[in-house]
Amino acid sequence: MSNQKEHILITGGAGFIGSHLIERLLNQGEHVAIIDDLSTGQFSNIEPFAKHHNFRFVIDSVFHEEVFDGLVKNAHTVIHLAAAVGVRLIVEHPVHTIQTNVMGTERVLKAALRYKTKVLIASTSEVYGKENHIPFAEDDDIVLGSSKKSRWAYAASKLVDEFLGLAYYREYNLPVAIVRFFNTIGPRQTGHYGMVVPRFMVQAICNKPITVYGDGTQSRCFCDVRDVVSAITQLIAHPTAFGEVFNIGGNEEVTIKELAERVIKLTHSSSPIVFVPYEKAYTLGFEDMHRRVPDTSRIFNLSGWKAMFSLNDTLAYIQDYFRLSPETLEKEKAILDKF
Ligand code: UDP
Repeated sequence: MSNQKEHILITGGAGFIGSHLIERLLNQGEHVAIIDDLSTGQFSNIEPFAKHHNFRFVIDSVFHEEVFDGLVKNAHTVIHLAAAVGVRLIVEHPVHTIQTNVMGTERVLKAALRYKTKVLIASTSEVYGKENHIPFAEDDDIVLGSSKKSRWAYAASKLVDEFLGLAYYREYNLPVAIVRFFNTIGPRQTGHYGMVVPRFMVQAICNKPITVYGDGTQSRCFCDVRDVVSAITQLIAHPTAFGEVFNIGGNEEVTIKELAERVIKLTHSSSPIVFVPYEKAYTLGFEDMHRRVPDTSRIFNLSGWKAMFSLNDTLAYIQDYFRLSPETLEKEKAILDKF
């Protein structure tokens, strides 16, 4: 590899969003390198690109300084997706979550500063915490729950990432932008870490009970991963995106009960809906977000981006994926059986 800054580096590239991003960037003619320790990412997600002449993958951690440094040196942009994600993982492994998120981002920023490389940091709508003012706008005040509840460790750790990224921008002029993802969905997302859509889809296809947590009146705005990838590619190409935070989310609010009904209808499933108390689904004292709706006017005003795919389109896209990949369906079924 030459010393020119020739590729876009994606940390956590073997994850669900990363794998879709690789595909888009390669189609755009970019050179793409990824680093992933396969802790939650999967090799099968990157396998289709493994032999592509513009693609390079490194199975390692951003904490392996020598390796990571070499990759950043040759990158014109780093897209930092590597993080501990998924509510289940966070509640079960809070130490790992805090360490991976905070220290991982610090590593990325330090290396990027050394080579003056642009950085896009993936954050999450979780950072809005218990805020009740709908829709959530990037500059809103934030209220988090008690530090005795692990769920908030995720929000707090990603907020530290945001503070750190913006501090590097202000203090060192490093081009850093932050994106807050709101419930991204699509093929290759696994239900292993608690995500609702792959879980409901697999339950419905297998005619098993659909497990709605709580009373199902909580709502989300799901966003198609193809839209999310478009937002990312637009932002990294935009000179004035840096030093800013952007919500990336869908514009169709749906309750979780309605989501279950739509999945059942789409898949012609005979699954019943069962309501599972939160204490049973997670741990005692678990706090869910009742509504989560993004205000996406900032990114719209910058680049004209807004979510294009409807929830029904995306659900059909995910259904097709399971239809075409029976071995993945089997794997996801086995995961469901464990929880
Ligand atoms: N949920 C559910 N059944 C499941 C998994 C999740 O009812 O099998 C609910 C969860 O409690 C939350 C919503 O679906 O209210 C979205 O959960 P997810 O973990 O996908 O994303 P979150 O918005 O919590 O980050």
